[in-house]
Amino acid sequence: MAKLALRNISVTPVTKVFSGHPIIAQMLIDAGAEMVADSRVENIQRLTKAGVLVPKMLIRTPMLSQVTSVVKWCDISLNTEIDVIEKLSCVAKQLNVTHGIVVMIELGDLREGVMPELIIGFIKQIIDLPNIIIKGIGANLACRYGIATDEKNMSLLSNLADDIEAKFDLKLDIISGGNTASIDWAINHTSTTRVNNLRIGEAIFLGFDSLTQEKIEGLYTDSITLTAEVIESKLKPSLPWGSRGTNAFGEKEYTSERGAVSQAILALGRQDVCITGLSAPDGMTIMSSTSDHLIIETSGKPLLVGQTVMFNLDYSALLSSMSSCYVYKYFNKHIASKVSNNAMNEKGKVNATIALP
Ligand SMILES: *Cc1c(COP(=O)(O)O)cnc(C)c1O
Repeated sequence: MAKLALRNISVTPVTKVFSGHPIIAQMLIDAGAEMVADSRVENIQRLTKAGVLVPKMLIRTPMLSQVTSVVKWCDISLNTEIDVIEKLSCVAKQLNVTHGIVVMIELGDLREGVMPELIIGFIKQIIDLPNIIIKGIGANLACRYGIATDEKNMSLLSNLADDIEAKFDLKLDIISGGNTASIDWAINHTSTTRVNNLRIGEAIFLGFDSLTQEKIEGLYTDSITLTAEVIESKLKPSLPWGSRGTNAFGEKEYTSERGAVSQAILALGRQDVCITGLSAPDGMTIMSSTSDHLIIETSGKPLLVGQTVMFNLDYSALLSSMSSCYVYKYFNKHIASKVSNNAMNEKGKVNATIALP
């Protein structure tokens, strides 16, 4: 955040991977964030109800069917459709509030955004809508095709900001240049730019650059762990027996004869987490998973029933486990006590535990 501040780029933390957990949001606000963002209006509602007071930005273009909640709960939303913005305007007028929008521009990753050559016409159609404030423009890269943030696409975004301001009597406050994958460009670029904001999730929580899958210097990559309990541990043959079809998920797992193996079952399954995003401790190999079971083989000492095993998580594992109501979210005591409003801790039932920084 400090490195980006030096480049006049503010960071809007994105809480979606934590389902809008208020403690996480409060930690980030205590660390200096002036606004928080999430992709789901339900998560933004959760933040507000828990007492998170800073402005909130919805970073997925609103569903037409949710426009009323978007106006009620979100200060700003990212937008790409005239119909949606017109309805936002209509609802905001009825409720006698204003709603800020950031218009997203397509820069090549082919997810959301108005095509750059159509942006002037687009702004023309929304500029006079009542109760809508055009706060800025933005872009999202690296999510669908992994298109990198570079000098070319960022200077286009920057120039479009100038063009829009020149054409209309408008000051764009927010020029939002993307997500975690834009950090490298933001810190190292040499040109002058209008880009003054990034929306960041992954880098803050996992310390990885999503584009290169490399660790970001100075950040922790192990602040979040997932712990599960051993419910069976036995020496078993490595080959199944009996006539064989596909498994419960329509898959046919490959296996080879390795003699007897030390196999453990953990109370963790596909209902809890995206298994492919877990990394097991040394000496343990994740072999397979079902809805409720994770099967691992150990090369060292066999695991004991009741023992716990701790995993590191990637983005999809974090996202899925935070979204599972079976995974108990537990905060490191230091953090929970440091957060200014720690009454916000929420408890749930579990079979696995996720420990947050
Ligand atoms: C998820 C998301 C982000 C944050 O992405 P990270 O890779 O987690 O930094 C930013 N902007 C939009 C529109 C998103 O959907």
